[in-house]
Amino acid sequence: MIRACLSFLLASTLFAQARCATFTIAYFDTPPNAQAAIEHAAGIWGGILVSDVPIKVTVQWLAMGGNALGVTFPNGRKDFASAPVPATWYATALANSIAGTELNPGEDDINVYLNASTNWYYGTDGNTPAGQYDLVSVALHEFCHGIGFVGLAKKVGSEGSFGLLQPSDFAPLITTFPWPQQDTLPGIFDRFLRAPTLELLVDVPNPSTPLGSFFTCNQLRWSGSFGLVGSGGADIRIYSPATFALGSSCVHLNETTYPAGNANELMTPFSSAGHANHWPGPICIGILQDIGWVIAPDVAIDEIPGSEGWTLYPNPASHQLHLSGVPGISGARCEVIDRAGRVVASHVGEPTVDVSSIEPGSYLLRVVSSDRIIQRAFVKI
Ligand SMILES: [Zn+2]
Repeated sequence: MIRACLSFLLASTLFAQARCATFTIAYFDTPPNAQAAIEHAAGIWGGILVSDVPIKVTVQWLAMGGNALGVTFPNGRKDFASAPVPATWYATALANSIAGTELNPGEDDINVYLNASTNWYYGTDGNTPAGQYDLVSVALHEFCHGIGFVGLAKKVGSEGSFGLLQPSDFAPLITTFPWPQQDTLPGIFDRFLRAPTLELLVDVPNPSTPLGSFFTCNQLRWSGSFGLVGSGGADIRIYSPATFALGSSCVHLNETTYPAGNANELMTPFSSAGHANHWPGPICIGILQDIGWVIAPDVAIDEIPGSEGWTLYPNPASHQLHLSGVPGISGARCEVIDRAGRVVASHVGEPTVDVSSIEPGSYLLRVVSSDRIIQRAFVKI
């Protein structure tokens, strides 16, 4: 399932612009066999994400109380030159990828703490013995938070807020980079959270008691189009239990909806011993696209049953994009949707779209006919 990006790059010079992300990891007190497992996890993300800017990570191996396996702090940037959405925090690894340049020289992008007290399995084969926790799986999970699968939700008493997190909320853990003053602004991840009533949480007063109620309604959903392609159109459930848990609530997929063994289990808040998962799954990959990541063109998020015969080609595309193999859609409406959910091109007719005038990047082709909606991700180069 994991296809190496390197061989993809060798396959065609067309894809020379699609560069795999690289991770530069500085280790502190981390055993060498643990480092090997962590590097393996970084390599998996490197084959999924496209970025010209190396992702700078510190990994601190530290005995932590409680049952936490790991804690991750992403550095943040907002309102950088090419930011897709203003007044919104982006993990710096993502901001750097979008900007195509390092916005934070001298600062780390991600700080990961891993619990030295855990009974870890260091192997990379996924054959995790009973009673041990699979380090590759946990590192994959923590890196995902670091690249932006994270929000800025907090609840104090009954009041919920975005963008009021303080370093003291996470003491005694600290970051190697200056803690950004969050200015009561949401993260890009937060902008896709919605209530079951379809209301976006960023449209609720911030801070407020109603926002706090939504954080613990156990019914939060993800609204982004790419994520919904990954789910095959099914509601995407976000972890929002009745008791708010800082660092778990509103920043994970729902545990009971995606239990161990589900293709989307990686980004749920709890991890089981004796179990491994080395692939983020289609919902997670779609969510990363929703927040602005460019995904390697050979990583599929579309798992709609019965769609095996559909072909979207060429992908990546530079001029004409064609969808074939779907009967009865020749009079459908075709829309090209960008990372921010905006329709940037549309027409009614054959499922062929002229993409020559749109900016390079990742998009969704949505075809709406009388009896169905088809969505497929593609990359414009
Ligand atoms: Zn987590």
